Amino acid sequence: MKFYSLHKQSPAVTFKEAAINGQAPDKGLYFPEHIPVFDKSFFDQIGTVPDEDIAFRVIRPYTGQSIPDDELYRIVKETIDFPIPLVKLNEEIYSLELFHGPTLAFKDIGARFMSRCLGYFSKDRKEKVIVLVATSGDTGGAVADGFYNVPGVEVIILYPAGKVSAIQEKQLTTLGNNIHALEVNGNFDDCQDLVKQAFTDRELSKHSLLTSANSINVARWLPQQFYYFFAWKQWAFKNQLPVIAVPSGNFGNICAGLLAHASGLPVKHFIAACNVNDVVPRFLATGRYEPRKAIATLSNAMDVGNPSNFVRILEIFEKQQEGLKQMLSSYSITDEETIDTLKYLYQRFGYVADPHGAVGFLALTRYLNDHPREKGIFLETAHPVKFLSDVEQAIGAGIMIPPNIKSIMEKKSQAISINVDYEQLRACITNVSNGQGS
Ligand SMILES: *Cc1c(COP(=O)(O)O)cnc(C)c1O
Repeated sequence: MKFYSLHKQSPAVTFKEAAINGQAPDKGLYFPEHIPVFDKSFFDQIGTVPDEDIAFRVIRPYTGQSIPDDELYRIVKETIDFPIPLVKLNEEIYSLELFHGPTLAFKDIGARFMSRCLGYFSKDRKEKVIVLVATSGDTGGAVADGFYNVPGVEVIILYPAGKVSAIQEKQLTTLGNNIHALEVNGNFDDCQDLVKQAFTDRELSKHSLLTSANSINVARWLPQQFYYFFAWKQWAFKNQLPVIAVPSGNFGNICAGLLAHASGLPVKHFIAACNVNDVVPRFLATGRYEPRKAIATLSNAMDVGNPSNFVRILEIFEKQQEGLKQMLSSYSITDEETIDTLKYLYQRFGYVADPHGAVGFLALTRYLNDHPREKGIFLETAHPVKFLSDVEQAIGAGIMIPPNIKSIMEKKSQAISINVDYEQLRACITNVSNGQGS
């Protein structure tokens, strides 16, 4: 399998090259040359197939010759080494809990897979691999955890000052060693722009191999398909396809779901659940795609004004807006509605959601109100403890803090503060590549 650039100016590459490059030289996102289609029997018999076998079968057509089968199987098995349960709220609504990994967010799955792939690929390289990543909250922690102490790989994480939760900040700033955290005096889009600028800096890439760990990287994006298959495995109504609501920011997660669907996964409809950063809901309503500055909300991992992966969604549907509209709806949810939903979920079902999951639940509920015969799943993308004070305030009750989070809160942050200034970032990258720490 080869991957081509969506800007069509760079040559097609293998999975290995796409994972190492992150973005194509022409700045386009990589996209698979063809989408594998699985036999119907695979979906009919999925209940008897172990999760790691499902994941292996899903990813193998994409990784192709880049990773030998035994190595790939080991990577996949380690990636999904925690439960991903489908939890029933009532007859119509189920929560797919993606937050049982080490950093308590769904991004663990993509980050664990990617870090293990890059660890494997860097074995036979002399120069250091430097992973550069901008985070609006959860990516940083998942990437930091996934790459911590991977030999030959240094990680630089940019996050917006004051715009990530206390636990998120600790998760990405306290590890040290090969993990370098930069606190940027700006918002997420500023962080992302700085990272993009570094990738176009030819001088930098002469000395070390720069790659991204954002959801644009195929090694993070593609394994996110796994849990859509696990959801189907656990779905009790095989003759009624689920509607799936995905809390969306950069649209990597939902794009993986749409790709799984293009491979034959039975899904009735997808819902992109957004906060007030509503570029995609507006696009679906008006046909005009108008990026904006990100607005800060309670569901901060979705505060994205120009979602990178949306171009991949258009590619899946080959720019036919009609097919897209048939398969995808999108709703924009305010912070006030998010708080009311957290409260409702707790009072009505005794379910403690996080703000992102609450946005997903409410968007799903809106759709189901208009389509009363359907049943659906919302993805619960983070553990509520990551947004402790907001959630406790909303539900008016305390929540249990897992022991690994308690211990991280006592550790000291090792972040370095920078302005929205490319020269400052460049100096940090140069230091790291020269082995002088950040
Ligand atoms: C990153 C994140 C999202 C958004 O995912 P995308 O793939 O960027 O759309 C939603 N919820 C949580 C908790 C996240 O960390």
